[in-house]
Amino acid sequence: MSTPQWHRRHLLSLADLEPWEYEIILQTSASFAEVLSRPTPKVPTLQGRVVAMLFFEASTRTRNSFELAAKRLSADTLNFSPGTSALNKGETILDTAKTLLAMNTNLLVIRHQYSGVPQQIAQECDRLGTGAGVINAGDGQHEHPTQALLDLFTLCSHHPARPPSLTALQGCKIAIVGDILHSRVARSNIYSLRAAGATVHLAGPPTLVPRAWQELGVAIHWELAPALKDAHFVMALRLQKERMHQHFLPSLREYHREYGLTRERLSLCQPGVKLLHPGPANRGVELTSDIIDDPELSLVSQQVSNGVAVRMAVLYLLSTAKIKG
Ligand code: ASP
Repeated sequence: MSTPQWHRRHLLSLADLEPWEYEIILQTSASFAEVLSRPTPKVPTLQGRVVAMLFFEASTRTRNSFELAAKRLSADTLNFSPGTSALNKGETILDTAKTLLAMNTNLLVIRHQYSGVPQQIAQECDRLGTGAGVINAGDGQHEHPTQALLDLFTLCSHHPARPPSLTALQGCKIAIVGDILHSRVARSNIYSLRAAGATVHLAGPPTLVPRAWQELGVAIHWELAPALKDAHFVMALRLQKERMHQHFLPSLREYHREYGLTRERLSLCQPGVKLLHPGPANRGVELTSDIIDDPELSLVSQQVSNGVAVRMAVLYLLSTAKIKG
């Protein structure tokens, strides 16, 4: 049987990604992780290609990670910042994208505060027949596919099985704790973790963990203990205050008392449990500093380092996709 080939030009959502596609991403990320461990961590793979970053919303990790990933692949990068752009003069987002496409940009990496903007730009790229690819780098409360892919790679590489594969997570219990309602990371994570055969438990206050999320095949808990009980991995999420337009919580102190992750609470999990957080973390709110800084417990710095390899894989796969039809 021949190995299936990557065929997507855009990465907008993980909702319909097949297990074999995750496997290709994991294997390609592992190859680029090896490149990054070399004394000269750079390859000419995307020489002559242009990758543009359009970040309409704040970002530290994702933006720098994509930029470094593109540079490690020898691509040329363009950086767009809304505050200093012609958007101030009334230009639309689509016109901004078209301007960059007219400069022969091959890949657009887009973050926006509204769900659906990357999809809209991808449709426009296809309609114009540009051949350019679009990567969703986080759209509103919808999805953040590359965050979930780097989490997946971190979880699968942590397991002793080599090379990293989805099978590493088969039957694992993973608790995702915090502001699920406003989290684009949670939705993307649920798609990938379910595809890997993990059982996913969400925990947080009822205002932030709606029952409707059960439809995604996860268990819902409004108390922390049952979600943490025997979990192999715990993912903490930040309270997305910038997206809260009502009073979802009595106070941050109350939230921490009920749902804050502490060493004592993590003792309910499997021995050797590992903690993940997509960042930025609010220390003393969703978790205590001592656990996020504990290298025995926390995979946070691995998440950040793996992010570069995984984004190199995504940039490479989308640039070399064999598009059907
Ligand atoms: N960095 C992640 C995101 O952009 C998580 C967060 O902001 O809390 O969605």
